[in-house]
Amino acid sequence: MVTGTHCPYCALQCGMSLSGGSGPVTVEARPTSTSAGLCQKGWTAPALLASPERLTTPLVRDHRHAALRPAGWDEVFARIGTGITAVQQEYGRDAVGVFGGGGLTNEQAYSLGKLARVALRTANIDYNGRFCMSSAAAAGNRAFGVDRGLPFPLADIAGTDVLVLAGSNLADTMPPAMAHVEAMLAAGGELIVIDPRRTPTAEVATLHLQNVPGSDLALALGLLHLLVAGGHVAQAYIAERTTGWDDVRPLVAGYWPERVERMTGVPVSALYEAARLLAGAGSAMILTARGAEQQSKGTDTATAFLNLALALGLPGRPHAGWGCVTGQGNGQGGREHGQKADQLPGYRSISDPVARAHVAGVWGVPSESLPGPGRSAFELLDALGADVRALLVVGSNVAVSAPDLRRVSQRLDGLDLLVVADLVLSETAARADVVLPVAQWAEEDGTMTNLEGRVLRRRKAIDPPPGVRTDLEVIAGIAAAVGVSTGFHTDAEEVFAELRRASAGGLADYAGISYPRIDAEDGVFWPCPDEHHPGTPRLFTERFATPDGRARFVPVEHRPAAEEPDEDYPLYLTTGRVRGHYQSGAQTRRVPALAAAEPGPFVEVHPHLAEQLGVAEADEVVVATRRGQATLPARVTATIQPETVFVPFHWSEANRLTIAALDPTSRMPEFKVCAARLSRAPSREAVSR
Ligand code: SF4
Repeated sequence: MVTGTHCPYCALQCGMSLSGGSGPVTVEARPTSTSAGLCQKGWTAPALLASPERLTTPLVRDHRHAALRPAGWDEVFARIGTGITAVQQEYGRDAVGVFGGGGLTNEQAYSLGKLARVALRTANIDYNGRFCMSSAAAAGNRAFGVDRGLPFPLADIAGTDVLVLAGSNLADTMPPAMAHVEAMLAAGGELIVIDPRRTPTAEVATLHLQNVPGSDLALALGLLHLLVAGGHVAQAYIAERTTGWDDVRPLVAGYWPERVERMTGVPVSALYEAARLLAGAGSAMILTARGAEQQSKGTDTATAFLNLALALGLPGRPHAGWGCVTGQGNGQGGREHGQKADQLPGYRSISDPVARAHVAGVWGVPSESLPGPGRSAFELLDALGADVRALLVVGSNVAVSAPDLRRVSQRLDGLDLLVVADLVLSETAARADVVLPVAQWAEEDGTMTNLEGRVLRRRKAIDPPPGVRTDLEVIAGIAAAVGVSTGFHTDAEEVFAELRRASAGGLADYAGISYPRIDAEDGVFWPCPDEHHPGTPRLFTERFATPDGRARFVPVEHRPAAEEPDEDYPLYLTTGRVRGHYQSGAQTRRVPALAAAEPGPFVEVHPHLAEQLGVAEADEVVVATRRGQATLPARVTATIQPETVFVPFHWSEANRLTIAALDPTSRMPEFKVCAARLSRAPSREAVSR
C-alpha cells in the first residue's frame, strides 16, 4: 500500500509517498506545487522508524540519582498525576510548565494548549517556535495585523524580478525550494543574498552582501535611505495602503551609505548596486529568515525589511511582498492554535475577553477559568526550579536548542518533576524523571501548515511499535491523570473538527478546512472561514488585517548586539544549520547516512584567523564565550569573514556558547551573535604530560 504524506522535517513539507507495512518503509518523492523533490533528510527519514534507538517503553526514575528503568503506562501516568498534583498544591497552578514544539501537528499543538489551560490550568505554556519564528511573527503582526510566514505561494518566487534573501541559506536548509529561485534566475530575475557567510545560496546570487553578524537592521535602513534619496519609493501605494511613513522617512536619513558601510562591513558600491536592482524591479520579494531574526533586535530587523517592502509598494501585489521563511515542519500551524504563551486557537489573544469567551465555549469551561498569558520559552526555562517546579516537554529538545545551556541545565536540575515525551532518548529525555515513548510522523494522522500557510495532511502509513502511544493519547492520559477524563480526543480528525470550531472567526480561521477537502485539493490555505470558501493563497490583495485595512510602517533604529566583540572576546560567533541535520539533531543525528555525512560539530574559521592561531584544517580549537567553551575541529574556509566564526547548532556545543539576551518584543534569544575568542587546543601530549 502506498500512502501520500509529507516529510517529517522542515516547513517546506515536501510531498512523499511511503510504501511498506510488513517490511521496511520506502520513500518516493511526491511532487506538489510547493516542492518537486526531497533533500537527503527526506530521503532518509524512514531510517528512524526502525531505529534501534527508538523508545518503545515508558521509562521512570525512582529518585533523582537513580537510573531510568522501564515502566508500564499506568505507572507513569500515576506518577505524573501525583507529581503534578503535589507541585500545584504546594506552589500553585502556574508552578507546572508545558514546553511544546513546532514539529507537532496542528492537532497535537491544539490539544497541548488545551491540556495546559483546561486540565493543568497553568498559564505557563510556550514552545520552541519562540526560538525560531517569533521575531518575524511579531513584525508581521504589527505591520500587517496578522502573521502568516509567506503571504503568497512559494511558487510565486519564480515570477518575481528581484528576490532578497536576508539571513536565509535556502540551498542548504530547504534544497528543493531552490528550484523556484533557479526558475526566477533562468527567467532573468536577480537574487540578492544578505548573509555573513558565503553560503551555497550566496554562491548563486547576483549580489552577496556579506555583512557582519547583527548588522542586518542597519543594512535594511541603509537600503531604504538610498531608495528614498533616489526618489524610488512608491508614493501612491504609501498614500493609499499604509500609515506611518512620515515617522519612518526621517529616521532613515541618518543611514547614509558610508555610515552603513562602517556599521555592516558592506561596501558602499554594493549598497548602491542592491538599491539599483530594487529600484529597477517591476516586482520584488523580500524574505527574512533566522539569520536576520534570531537577534535581540530581531523584531525590529524584520520590521526594517518589511518597511523596505512597503516603501517599494510590494505587499499585496503579484509576485511581490515581504515574508519569512519558516523553519520547523509545523512552525506555522504550531504558533496558531494555542501552544504559545499568549495565544488561544485561531491566533486569538488570550488577553482578549471576546476570544476567551469563544474558546471557553468550545471547550465547555467558564472563560474566567482560563489562565492569562504565561512566560515566553526562555523565561519559562529560566524559572525552572524557582517559580516553575514541574515541566512537561513534548516534541522539543531544550537541552540542546536553548541558549546559554549551562544556565538552562542548572534550571533543569532544580525541577521536582521533568516529564519528556519523545521518540528517542534525546538529551532532554535523558535528564527526565519520566520518559514517554511516542509515535512519529509515518505512524500518525494529523495536519501540518507549511511555510505558505497551506494546511496539509500527514497520513498514517504504519502502526507505531507496540508499547508506543501517540502524542494525542499521551495528552489525554495526562489530562486523565490530573482528573480531567473528558474533552481530550485521541482521534486526529475529531481533534481537527474541534480545532476548526475553536479557530472560527479568528485570524487563522480553519473553519472551512476539512480532511476530505485537503485530500481533494492537496492542501488548503488559511484563512478559510467556511466550506464554500476557496481558501486564501494570497493575502493583502485588497486590504491588510489591521482595523483600517492599511499596513503600518513602524519606525525602527539600529542598535548593537547585546554583546559586541571587545578586547577579551574579539570575534563574532554566529550559529546555524548544516544541510544534513534538522534542529537539535535528536532525529537526524540518529539517521546513519546523515550522521556519516556530518558526524559532529565544528567551527568555521577564515584562513587569516587560522594562520594567526597556527591552526590547520581539522585541528582542535577552543571556542570560548562568557558563558562557556567548546573544543571543536576547525574547518578552515574563506566563505566566512576573518572576524567571524560559525558553529552549527545541531549539537549542544553551540548553545553552551550563545547568549540568552532576548528581543524585547518577541522574546527571541540572540542565537546569531555574541562575542567569542579562539585558541588552539593544547595537544593531547601536552595535556597528558
Ligand atoms: Fe523537504 Fe525540508 Fe524534508 Fe528536505 S527536510 S525533504 S526540504 S521538507
